[in-house]
Amino acid sequence: MNEKIEEILREYRKIESLSHAQRVLHWDLEVMMPEGGIDHRSESLATLEIMQRDLYLRLSEKVNSVNDSLDDIEKGIIRNLKRTIRYYSLPEDLIKRIEKVTTKSPVIWREARKKSDFSIFEPSLREIISLSKEVAEKLGYDKHPYNALMDLYEEGFTVDDADLVFSKILSETSRIMRRIEGSNFSGNHPLEKKRYSKKAMEKVNREMIRILGMPEKRFRMDVSAHPFTIGISIDDVRITTRYEGKNFKSTLFSTIHESGHAIYELQKDPSLAWTPVSRAPSLGFHESQSRFFENIVGRSRDFVHLIYPILRDNLPLESYNEEDIYYYFNNVHPSPIRVDADEITYNLHIALRYEIEKGLLDGRIDAKDLPSLWNSFMEKYLGIEPKNDAEGVLQDIHWSQGSIGYFPTYTLGNIISSIIRYSFKNLNELIREGNLVEIRDYLRQKVHRYGSIYSPKELLRLSFNEGYNPDYLIKYFEEKFF
Ligand SMILES: [Zn+2]
Repeated sequence: MNEKIEEILREYRKIESLSHAQRVLHWDLEVMMPEGGIDHRSESLATLEIMQRDLYLRLSEKVNSVNDSLDDIEKGIIRNLKRTIRYYSLPEDLIKRIEKVTTKSPVIWREARKKSDFSIFEPSLREIISLSKEVAEKLGYDKHPYNALMDLYEEGFTVDDADLVFSKILSETSRIMRRIEGSNFSGNHPLEKKRYSKKAMEKVNREMIRILGMPEKRFRMDVSAHPFTIGISIDDVRITTRYEGKNFKSTLFSTIHESGHAIYELQKDPSLAWTPVSRAPSLGFHESQSRFFENIVGRSRDFVHLIYPILRDNLPLESYNEEDIYYYFNNVHPSPIRVDADEITYNLHIALRYEIEKGLLDGRIDAKDLPSLWNSFMEKYLGIEPKNDAEGVLQDIHWSQGSIGYFPTYTLGNIISSIIRYSFKNLNELIREGNLVEIRDYLRQKVHRYGSIYSPKELLRLSFNEGYNPDYLIKYFEEKFF
């Protein structure tokens, strides 16, 4: 390996250790910590962040001095370091202002949502938008300020790419929705109201984890308010789920979804640990793995066949047979809430957020118009009107955390997962046989092992000879629902 890179990697071990500690503290905060611990914990986390920033900036000169011929991994290391250093090189004052507003905004957003009153949150959102514009200007961009922000989550993904993706999805989805209306997939399902015992459902989720092949010594599952996955290290990956007491598919699919994220973390090439290329190349790629397992595997007929005996033995399914469960898993009906959305209408929720964020960034949209604008988009895209702000513009926490440019990656996850689906030769058989080992191996070969050696666009090209092509997603919907 290049001598300069070796030296950089020795330094990087300190950054990775700090970040490792940060992840453990973060997991504990979400899962274990008593409420009272929050002040001390927040300060510790912020300090760890500053220490990492300092170490990155100290590496800057070394990173910029590497210009010998490099192999792919070395190039990836330099590319990733340069991206992080570029972000941390934003003026300290700007970073501090962002930190300040994004610490208090989620609290304000919670209050606004509780009272269903957007005007409470509007001043915070204005500040976040204005800071985001400043970030975009400082980072620099081609054509549109939103490009600078999306690039933070999905390297190289632009407004031009997104416009293509969402215009196709919008036109095709409305056509698909019209055809589904009145079919077996359409409308609510009685099982959504049905209660279950938490103990029984815990057992079912444990069985899911066994079927998906999660390794006992390197993985754990707990409960938290909002399900998430955290890769503390390649040999210590954790997910959470939650039990709402009814509509059992909700906890079932959240467990499978997070397991998909966990499989990604567990299957990276071990030699990449302690390097800047040990993470996934983008949020879209990470989400593609969770959605692959949740939707393409988990909501398939073959998976229902595989797990039906487990469901029947543990839950009061009454006379519902495999076929009924399949429709219960896949019913389609427009909902005002993104996280409750089915596979098809989900992307419309994202298209709406994309249009709004883009408009907020380039000044075509003013924050004060958001509640009514939101509702008119809902009417246009989904044919429903939210009852109030809580059910409309205030439903997501993302903006209050300063995450602008993040939402599109959810749809990119769906698109990439469907590209992967069609690159499989015999996926249905593998699912039916419960041969998850082979499915996981394939994903390891094609995606996981690379970490972020390549940018997401490069990896899509390298492994699937594709771009962010929405045609596969549309094809998948047509084959499944028609
Ligand atoms: Zn996810």
